[in-house]
Amino acid sequence: MNEWGDGTRVVTGGMAPAQAGQPLLPSPVFAAPFHLGDQPAGTADGYGRISHPSIRHFETALAGLEGGPVVAFATGMAAVSAVLLESLRPGDAVVLPSDGYYTTRQLAADYLAPRGVEVREVPTAADHSAAVDGARLVLLETPSNPGLDVCDIAEISTAAHRAGALVAVDNTTATPLGQRALELGADLVISSDTKALTGHSDLILGHVGCRDQRLADRLAAWRRAAGAMPGPFEVWLAHRSLGTLDLRLRRQADNALALVEVLAKTDGVSGLRYPGWPADPAYALASRQMRRFGGVVSFTLPSAETVARFVAESALVSAATSFGGLHSTVDRRAQWGGDDVPDGFVRFSAGCEDTADLVADVSAALDHAL
Ligand SMILES: *Cc1c(COP(=O)(O)O)cnc(C)c1O
Repeated sequence: MNEWGDGTRVVTGGMAPAQAGQPLLPSPVFAAPFHLGDQPAGTADGYGRISHPSIRHFETALAGLEGGPVVAFATGMAAVSAVLLESLRPGDAVVLPSDGYYTTRQLAADYLAPRGVEVREVPTAADHSAAVDGARLVLLETPSNPGLDVCDIAEISTAAHRAGALVAVDNTTATPLGQRALELGADLVISSDTKALTGHSDLILGHVGCRDQRLADRLAAWRRAAGAMPGPFEVWLAHRSLGTLDLRLRRQADNALALVEVLAKTDGVSGLRYPGWPADPAYALASRQMRRFGGVVSFTLPSAETVARFVAESALVSAATSFGGLHSTVDRRAQWGGDDVPDGFVRFSAGCEDTADLVADVSAALDHAL
């Protein structure tokens, strides 16, 4: 890995050498089959489900950020399911976070357990040492979505490796600028690039970063067989958005911390969590393990109605699921039924608005709502 800073790495990653008359970032190349011409088999692009030029640029950019080869997928869940289904066989055991992204647990319950895979759910902040024993795969999610608990990737990876298990980290909330899971000891790092990594709330995409090329080859073979290849326009749009990741995350983290300071002093707000807040129970661990803390904050208001009033009173915050975009959004998670959270639980995604404007708007909206 080179020694450039984050801002330089996201701007330059995966760029082709400059050519007169060509765009700085290569434009998307649209093709289902490519002309084979007289090339020997396997030396040129043949079919878009297997590979294409746009995905190679994007994967190269991400590989520089993750610190290992990257395989991109059509969605975050395609990335999660590739890791689970490629590595698990009947009779294997998998460890999943009981408080992590709901659809991952649902996938395991609906499609892995009926095929003879033992699914062990462990809370993110709990001791993992008993659960990793005899497991084939340990999937961590830190900070967890939506509760923002944190676990020690290095410590759990050491225990899991001793037990013969592979370790995957769902790093969606942190992004590779927030946390380098492979350097901390994970074998695989999973990301939903729908969220902060691309940050404009306009595409669905995912990727897996791998400790070595052998694991990447296995996942690329899975992608080819399962058909989870993203199209050229999505990866080009994502690559274009990646260049501002450093700037976006800085503003989002500044906004999140400024809001936390207001929320901590507001009567009627409980259960406040943000890994970058010194009073958070996970702060010490998060400070050791994370490079920056991102823009997602969670807290609880007294009821579903209070949350609705808060959103209605705010000029800058809108209700939307997903997170990590330019616009500040609120998701009242209990409305979806998958997470074990109170009715008034809010996952707040701080956007890139001016900090003073956002703080003034949120403070006024809370005053009216509470
Ligand atoms: C959104 C999300 C996913 C799924 O990603 P999609 O792009 O929606 O398929 C997986 N894990 C986490 C932590 C997420 O937040």
